[in-house]
Amino acid sequence: MLIFDTKSALNAHLESIKSQNIQIGFVPTMGALHPGHTSLIDLSKKRGLFTVCSIFVNPTQFNDQNDLKNYPRTPEKDLEMLKSAGCDAVFMPSVSEIYPKEDTRQFNFGHLDNILEGAHRPGHFLGVAKVVSILFDIVKPHIAFFGSKDYQQVMVIKELVRQLKLFIEIVPCPIIRESDGLAMSSRNMRLNKEEREAAKLIPVLLNEAKRMKLAGKSLQEIKLMVNDRLNANQIYKLDYFEICDPNNLHLLNEVDPAKQSIALIACFVGQIRLIDNLPLQ
Ligand code: AMP
Repeated sequence: MLIFDTKSALNAHLESIKSQNIQIGFVPTMGALHPGHTSLIDLSKKRGLFTVCSIFVNPTQFNDQNDLKNYPRTPEKDLEMLKSAGCDAVFMPSVSEIYPKEDTRQFNFGHLDNILEGAHRPGHFLGVAKVVSILFDIVKPHIAFFGSKDYQQVMVIKELVRQLKLFIEIVPCPIIRESDGLAMSSRNMRLNKEEREAAKLIPVLLNEAKRMKLAGKSLQEIKLMVNDRLNANQIYKLDYFEICDPNNLHLLNEVDPAKQSIALIACFVGQIRLIDNLPLQ
C-alpha cells in the first residue's frame, strides 16, 4: 500500500495508473477507521478499482472547535486496517496541503442547507463541499463511495457533482452496525461505558418508528414515542428526529404506510452527538 502526503506525488502516481486504463475508486474519510469505513474500501475493491482512501480531519466542516480538537486520531491503526482491507493508496495530507490559502468559495445546496444537519450544523456542508471538491480534483476518481449513515451528505455530494459537472459516479453504501444495532462511528470511541450502553437506544427508536409506521400510526404518535423514550433519561439530548421523503429529504407532515419514507435522527448521548437513519419500508 502506497502512502502519500502531497497532492503532486499522489496525482502523478494516479495519472500513471489511469494511463494503464485502470479505473480509480475513492473513499474519503476523517480517519479513526472502523469496519464501516473498510466496507467502503471492500465495495471499491470488488468493482476492480485501484482504491484510494484519504484520511483528513477537515477543519472547515466543524462548526464546533471542541469537536474538532477532540476528534479521534488513530493513524497507525488506520494504516493497518487499510492494508488488511487491500487499499492500494492512502492520502494523508496536512491542512496546509489541502488549504494553502483560505478557501472562500460558496456553494448553494438549497433546501439541503436548511434542514436536519444543514440546519443544526451551520456551515458543515459548505466545509464538506470544499474538502470533497478539492479531494475530487486531486484524485479525479471514476467512482467515489460514501456511507448512507451520512444520508444527507450523500445527497449534498451528488448535488455537488452535478453543479461542478464532474464525471464521478457516487455510490451510496449500506450502514455497518455494531452487534447491538448502534451505527459504527469514529465518535463511538469517545462514549464512556454508560453512554455506550445508552447509545443503543438510537437504532431501537428507528426500528420502533418503522414498526409504528407500518402499523399505520401517525407521525405525531411516532414523534411522541421518540420524545418520551429520550426524555426518560437525561443522558440524551435530541437535536432532531424527522421523517422525510428519501428522494429529496422533504420533511413529511404525515406518514403514509404505502409511501416510501426515511427516519433520520441526531441525538447527543452525554457530550457526543450521534446520527443515524433508517428507511421505513
Ligand atoms: P467519516 O470518517 O466519518 O467522515 O466517514 C467517512 C465515510 O465513511 C463517509 O462516507 C461515511 O458515511 C462512511 N461511514 C462512516 N460510518 C459508517 C458506517 N457505520 N457504515 C457505513 N459507512 C460509514
